[in-house]
Amino acid sequence: MNHKTLHWFRRDLRAADNVALAAALAGSERVFCVFVFDIDILKQLPDRADRRVEFIRHSLVELAADLARQGGNLIVLHGSAREEIPRLAVRLGVDAVFANGDYEPAALARDGYVRGALGAVGISFRGFKDQVIFEKDELLSQEGRPYTVFTPYRNAWLKRLPEIDLDPAGAGGAGGSGGRLEAAAIDTTLPSLADLGFVPTDLLALGFKPGASGAAEAFADFEPRMRHYHQARDLPAVRGVSYLSVHLRFGTVSVRQLVRAALGQGSQGAQAWLGELIWRDFYFSILYQFPHVAGHAFRREYEGLAFTNREDLFLAWCQGRTGFPLVDAAMRQINRTGYMHNRLRMVSASFLVKDLHVDWRWGERYFSERLNDFDLAANNGGWQWAASTGNDAQPWFRIFNPVLQSRRFDADGVFIRRYVPELARCGDKEIHEPWKLSEARQRECGCVIGRDYPAPIVDHAVARKQALAIFEAVKSAR
Ligand code: FAD
Repeated sequence: MNHKTLHWFRRDLRAADNVALAAALAGSERVFCVFVFDIDILKQLPDRADRRVEFIRHSLVELAADLARQGGNLIVLHGSAREEIPRLAVRLGVDAVFANGDYEPAALARDGYVRGALGAVGISFRGFKDQVIFEKDELLSQEGRPYTVFTPYRNAWLKRLPEIDLDPAGAGGAGGSGGRLEAAAIDTTLPSLADLGFVPTDLLALGFKPGASGAAEAFADFEPRMRHYHQARDLPAVRGVSYLSVHLRFGTVSVRQLVRAALGQGSQGAQAWLGELIWRDFYFSILYQFPHVAGHAFRREYEGLAFTNREDLFLAWCQGRTGFPLVDAAMRQINRTGYMHNRLRMVSASFLVKDLHVDWRWGERYFSERLNDFDLAANNGGWQWAASTGNDAQPWFRIFNPVLQSRRFDADGVFIRRYVPELARCGDKEIHEPWKLSEARQRECGCVIGRDYPAPIVDHAVARKQALAIFEAVKSAR
């Protein structure tokens, strides 16, 4: 048993059902807790108003209170984790630092560095699996290779699930095991947003509720809706999905708890929802096994796609001014709230790549800067899926038609009206292609195309043919 252990919180901002924290408590007499606002990450954020920083800070307030109730406290540092963690570990005189695994290339490099720095002073560093159900090489094909296609991955995942202990780690919360949390005799004042170099955002005004309590509230709201998930999930105008992504991102909820709940309900909706949690694991596995996807096409032959990368078209897409109502509503949703519905992520990503012929990495980056739930693995996987450059991707010759997607998934235009008020007075059938309305009708609707709302920036039929040619050129060059 260790005498003293330091638990380092990263993407696991909760005290309950936290594998590394429970292991620290089970295996040592005294446990200290730390979180680092890592300047190596913060300096990459493009905007001083960042909802994610605020989400983390609010979640830390709650986490610190939870830990205090159990006799501990939370040391919150602001600096480079590479230096801060070893320095703190020495100062506290701990034998070990425990943390839950993070599979992003930069995080693995950081952890490797910290492990080395700690090792040099005789302190061990241990990583635990908490963020996913299967990690690293746990789920390989019969040939011992990582899965690159989702369906066999999902089948193997489901088959092997009974091997996984889904019970809450350290049942009874952080204080339930052998050792105890200890309040470090160190200043534990939480830095303000201003101390961190950020300014307040509209996070709370938008209804996002941070912390483990926010996750519990979101899940309680979703649980009765879960049984309808398979029917409602694709309709952005209704509350069909869980809105738990930001909580999964920052670990204010345990993925094991969600898997338990889906299995417990067992409805058709729950099974469909479980499938999405499996997609999440799948993309973590892809990023871990094939780290080149961060920055490069999963299928290397698609590195050579001759995108035209017109900045004016990209800007129109970013600003929600493409003239395609569903795409514009989607882009205005992400710009205004930091969230975008999954169906719309697929439609808008496909539109950028296959209609505007802009490199998927431009869109991936734009999303990474704006999504509250931004997660390298899922974002990269989603973009490469839409761009047909990834594993198990949308086949390159299948191209979403933005008007058909709009008619199918927002048939009455309810979602479009919410974000594109210029079109509010168009009829349900008209709203998907407002440029087809006569001038008189446009005036009646109070929306003259080209004046009140843009004309389509491309002709989908023509753009589709051009996209096929871009992909065919790569195919025939092989
Ligand atoms: P629900 O439908 O309730 O799903 C439950 C959970 O399953 C989600 O919270 C999420 O953790 C996971 N999940 C659902 N769909 C996927 C998926 N396709 N891939 C991986 N995990 C999934 N998800 C992110 O969490 N972060 C991202 O940065 C991100 N970027 C995306 C970019 C593109 C281009 C696309 C097509 C998808 C992206 N997704 C991303 C996946 C998905 O759109 C979001 O997880 C989902 O919309 C979040 O809403 P929700 O929590 O209500 O999801």
